[in-house]
Amino acid sequence: MSKKRQEEFVFAPLGGVGEIGMNLGLYGYGREGARKWIAVDLGITFPSETQPGIERIMPDIRFLEEERDNLLGIVLTHAHEDHYGAVGDLWPRLGAPVYATPFSAGLLRAKMAEERIHAPIPLKEVALGGSIELGPFAIRFVTTTHSIPEPNGLIIETAAGTAYHSGDWKIDGAPQIGGPTDIAALKELGARGCRALICDSTNATREGVSPSEGDVAQTLKSLIAEAPERVAVTAFASNVARLRSVALAAHAAGRRTILIGRAMHRVVTVAREAGYLHDVPDFLTEHDFKQLPRNEVVLLVTGSQGESRAALARIAQGNHPAVSLAAGDRVIFSSRTIPGNEKAVGQVQNALVRAGMDVITDADGLVHVSGHPRRGELVQLYDWLKPEVAIPVHGEARHLAAHAKLARERGVREVVTIFNGDMVRLAPGPAAIIDELPSGRLHKDGRITVAEDDEALRERRRLSFNGLVVVALTVTSKGELVAEPEVRLLGIPSADEEGGSMLELVYDTIDSVITSIPKPRRKDADLLREAVRRGVRATLGEVWGKRPVCEVMVTRI
Ligand SMILES: [Zn+2]
Ligand SMILES: [Zn+2]
Repeated sequence: MSKKRQEEFVFAPLGGVGEIGMNLGLYGYGREGARKWIAVDLGITFPSETQPGIERIMPDIRFLEEERDNLLGIVLTHAHEDHYGAVGDLWPRLGAPVYATPFSAGLLRAKMAEERIHAPIPLKEVALGGSIELGPFAIRFVTTTHSIPEPNGLIIETAAGTAYHSGDWKIDGAPQIGGPTDIAALKELGARGCRALICDSTNATREGVSPSEGDVAQTLKSLIAEAPERVAVTAFASNVARLRSVALAAHAAGRRTILIGRAMHRVVTVAREAGYLHDVPDFLTEHDFKQLPRNEVVLLVTGSQGESRAALARIAQGNHPAVSLAAGDRVIFSSRTIPGNEKAVGQVQNALVRAGMDVITDADGLVHVSGHPRRGELVQLYDWLKPEVAIPVHGEARHLAAHAKLARERGVREVVTIFNGDMVRLAPGPAAIIDELPSGRLHKDGRITVAEDDEALRERRRLSFNGLVVVALTVTSKGELVAEPEVRLLGIPSADEEGGSMLELVYDTIDSVITSIPKPRRKDADLLREAVRRGVRATLGEVWGKRPVCEVMVTRI
């Protein structure tokens, strides 16, 4: 049998490698051209300021759409947006069943209902520690710890060998929600033989081990107990362990906990349905706020990333309909600021400080911990699994490189550093990049999914910097103007440095451009349109220093 026709076990990420976000990892098994596939996670990335109007960014799934008939399932490791946020948008193009543990499944259902997505997704719940068989893949869910309930690693077994897909994880001895990492399952895999470890690189540059959720709970407990007036805590709503720690700390201090923000209510409802939070007193709603004395309340608030529409930003601006804070109240940011959100978070914090509030962030104490493994925890996992192959994922290039170096230091012989689109043969034979799949990004623009190079976004960016001039000319068949041109300026200063009207300037420019065209040539509508467009842009370029987008419409009567 030639090598090409061999049945191979391959891994190919279409998202999440070379970036932190929009995770999508494919595992394939079979001969080239006749492989069966599973997709692990289907996540999103959030857009930056340079992508105005884009709601979310998702992996380009061209390859999977072509392989739709061979896609046996979409397996979700956990319910963070970068792992499951694209299911609603992209599932209709793929059609495969979706597998998730109960909390993740519940959150997916709640999110789809809230976003009014009615896709008939065959959502299959897998028990914690459960197993599924999908064609040539036997998959076992391994309970780990992270910053959301029910994080799972996946043992993916095939006839050619077994891979461990770590998902997002850390080793937390006191996770506050759910059990500890199933170390026995990992050691057992190591003893049986782990061909490849595909593993989280987020904190691969950080020494030591992550503090525990239990340590954060202690800090929050004293900060809440010592606070003289109201306390507001903002955290990721999905961090149910954190919500629990806050609620228990409030209870211990004789305070009630009020949930503020839709995401908080959604997550708490799903968490209770999945069997969590039963040791926590009932939460109150914003309607109870006015009845409670200042020193008897703790607010759990959405908006830790400075999101302008979220509850905390509105409270900071003093325009939340039900809740207000005052000087002397304490606001705890029990969260990390995601790179790119620093300005927005800073604005909210500054507004709170200006209003006399006591703002506490992770710079002041252990009010937040990461859910990802530092180097000490990575070493631990490598020692348990003793993989033959290591493939760093879930990281930017610098995280992947640090992780690859660590893997080599732990004695892993075959360390393969890859990026989105690379296809790696895991077995049989040496691990190597054997193909490149089409990869890239899709943008959710309002309700429409478009390619990342779509012209609309480029135009919006141009408009946002340079504004727009619209000119409408009505001319006879000979090209003579029958009325004053109509001009609209959008996003352009109304007057120049000397106070002269920009609108008048544009009218004058149109006049002189038309006059300069010899009469017989004015009949040519295209020529007229182009001459006016160039003239207007050149004039504004001279006066303003910027050339706006200019659209000229010519109507002939
Ligand atoms: Zn993640
Ligand atoms: Zn995560």
